[in-house]
Amino acid sequence: MKIGFIGLGNMGAPMAANLAKAGHDVTGYDMAAVQIDGVTMAASATEAARGAAVVITMLPNGSILRKVTSEVIPAMTPGAVLLDCSTVDVASARDVAAEAQAAGLSALDAPVSGGVGGATAGTLTFMVGGDETGFNIARELFDIMGQKAVHCGPSGNGQAAKICNNMILGVTMIATCEAFALADKLGLDRQAMFDVVSTSSGYSWSMNAYCPAPGVGPKSPADNEYKPGFAADLMLKDLRLSQQAAETADADTPMGRAACDLYAQFVEAEDGKGRDFSAMLPRFEKRGRG
Ligand code: NAD
Repeated sequence: MKIGFIGLGNMGAPMAANLAKAGHDVTGYDMAAVQIDGVTMAASATEAARGAAVVITMLPNGSILRKVTSEVIPAMTPGAVLLDCSTVDVASARDVAAEAQAAGLSALDAPVSGGVGGATAGTLTFMVGGDETGFNIARELFDIMGQKAVHCGPSGNGQAAKICNNMILGVTMIATCEAFALADKLGLDRQAMFDVVSTSSGYSWSMNAYCPAPGVGPKSPADNEYKPGFAADLMLKDLRLSQQAAETADADTPMGRAACDLYAQFVEAEDGKGRDFSAMLPRFEKRGRG
């Protein structure tokens, strides 16, 4: 399949490399100078998109996505699929999809879970919004880049699933970290805390699969001095998207709001920038009730 791939950063580069490795004809574009094995580089986003059956975007945010797609959509062949895998706000996803559909294209918003490790290994999970026709065309690409693609409904629903999932993740990570910090102060051994909680009703992905306490549970960024992993800055981005969506939809999300405020403080006023999002544990440990 002829594929255009725009946005070849930490995530996009390995995803594009996997598509090329699987035998697809991939033309890429990034505003930074990038070289990827098997991927032909174009001089512009428009050039990468021209004649492609599927154009994939993997960009930082909704305003960049809107700008890039406003140039790319007119260059695409009617019937082709615009597949955005970035994490962006629901409104941008829906507006871009409407613009693509008006130009005779299929549009999918398909944000991912799994991080750079999953992008490299080809084990991402895709949460997909958009039309069935586009989903069926893109399915074989999801199978190469990931292990699972869930069709969540019409345009924007992929982004909705992503930000709801990550709102739960942000809240449970904070809850897990503050509980560990409390347990420390109560003299409870961390291994004992893990052994109990990971098999009791307080269990979660944050505790069981990504334990924020070093030396406890499976290997995680906590065992690597909290190097990301999933950076606290990216968690803050996703929590802000969920709060923006909650405001637009008039949804009451007090725990999501609290998690967003805390990550904002951690990243912008403390030492959280560039650290893994589980570094909330040493943050809580340093503090008392204040
Ligand atoms: P990144 O910053 O490494 O990559 C973004 C790329 O887009 C960069 O290479 C940049 O040069 C390029 N770019 C920016 N503006 C452009 C333009 N106008 N034209 C062409 N290229 C442009 O970011 P990333 O970590 O690869 O993340 C990409 C998306 O995936 C984000 O929306 C992020 O939230 C999401 N995501 C990231 C992770 C992760 O762990 N990194 C996990 C899940 C989802």
